Amino acid sequence: MTIYWERCDFCGLYKPTSRCAMFPELSVDFMCCVSCPLWMNTCKSPTWKISTKPVSLQLKSRGVSAEERKRVFEELMKSLESSKS
Ligand SMILES: [Zn+2]
Repeated sequence: MTIYWERCDFCGLYKPTSRCAMFPELSVDFMCCVSCPLWMNTCKSPTWKISTKPVSLQLKSRGVSAEERKRVFEELMKSLESSKS
């Protein structure tokens, strides 16, 4: 991957750009590439890729684990109540 500091053909700003995978005649910067509707969909190998895990994914898994803990606790309380009677 070769990066050139030139004008992005999508937003018109001077940024580090690379050749668009879908339209090789166009230069694209990171932000325009990842916000492209074709990114990782129609465009199977985008010029710019995100290597780090999305933050929302980490937050979601943390929320699920808290929900799971609550469910287990409720089940434990129910079984304690039924054993009493
Ligand atoms: Zn741009």
